[in-house]
Amino acid sequence: MSIYQKFGVEPIINACGSVTRLGGAPMPVEVLESFREAAAEWVPLEQLQAAASRKISEHTGTEAGLVTSGAAGALTLGAAAILAGHNLKRMEELPHCDDFPDEFIIAREQRSGYDHAVRAAGARLVEVGFNEIVSNAGVRRTESWEYAAAINENTAGIVYVHAADSQPVLTEVVEVAREHGLPVLVDAAGEVPPRSNLKAIAATGADLVSFSGGKAIRGPQSTGILCGKRELISSAALQMLDMDDHGQLWEPPADFIDTSLFRGLPRHGIGRALKVSKEEIIAVLTALEMFASGAYDAQNLEFRSWLEMIGEELELANVNATCYLVTPEGSERYPSLEIQIDESALGSAFDVCQNLRRGSPPIYVGHARLQEGMLTINPVCLTAEYARVLAERLCAELK
Ligand SMILES: *Cc1c(COP(=O)(O)O)cnc(C)c1O
Repeated sequence: MSIYQKFGVEPIINACGSVTRLGGAPMPVEVLESFREAAAEWVPLEQLQAAASRKISEHTGTEAGLVTSGAAGALTLGAAAILAGHNLKRMEELPHCDDFPDEFIIAREQRSGYDHAVRAAGARLVEVGFNEIVSNAGVRRTESWEYAAAINENTAGIVYVHAADSQPVLTEVVEVAREHGLPVLVDAAGEVPPRSNLKAIAATGADLVSFSGGKAIRGPQSTGILCGKRELISSAALQMLDMDDHGQLWEPPADFIDTSLFRGLPRHGIGRALKVSKEEIIAVLTALEMFASGAYDAQNLEFRSWLEMIGEELELANVNATCYLVTPEGSERYPSLEIQIDESALGSAFDVCQNLRRGSPPIYVGHARLQEGMLTINPVCLTAEYARVLAERLCAELK
């Protein structure tokens, strides 16, 4: 019996990928083993986070880093670090920013539910640009002069959401920020692979970059990474760590938290609710090491063979659908299978998707393109056995 069944929950076949809603990415055995080992001993968290900082620096080429509660937690802490710096009064006041700059500039087209994480620190978002292409009322994307024009004495920083086709490119936004002495906080949650982005995004000069630990890196789904300028990471760490100690006893590693920048000891900060455990820290560092070394690449060939098998089974069963194997360039990204269903024979793709979820075992497929009558199969959370069951259930459902 599954551990989940013991608690009355039915496990599913996740053909949707490493999404939070369904439990994140599969953790390699090495990662799970490191979690278990880490649970058997105790360490001061500021020392562990300082060690994490050194490891993250190595992989990202940044001055410092912090393990956070997801990329979302990294965005809240990054914004808090920019807002408060090492001003202990400001740390105490967040998320209220009554007498200091609190505006973060963001392109209107980059807004999403994830920017709630930035606002949670106290930041007020100021939108620039339009979304003319989506509204079919223009041909231009956001331009860097629009960021420059929005800067005033209340501006605290710039938020930038990194995607392959983000406009303007990050280097241009960093240039505008530099001219005005402002920091740039980058949401790069899902921007690896390619592995090169671990270093390339921060190499633009962006001050802080956040990555998910529980997507392609395959750490615990509750983890993330914030990396960047030493002084900002020091502030973020101060606002996250459990601060219930005496000032005269507390000795954080000097390369991690610069105690010369403040007098006294802050109490628990806004990030105290975003804690990560020693086990999670060790597990995501182990996963980062594996991801950065390319240890996951070989599996992409196996993923491909499962998807080909599913495509062949569906063809043999003569279902009312056509399969397309999508194979990205290079060895770092895994393939996916797109299933274009014949909606005149099967009903809407939404209904097909719902029926798969309600079946036994429940099956969750990628649902980003249901509007176009397309189901997507993402292999990253499958196993050879799951792939066989998935093929059978799809054959039955799409007949
Ligand atoms: C997934 C994602 C996040 C949140 O990452 P978590 O690690 O789940 O907190 C933030 N921003 C973007 C663009 C994402 O895709």
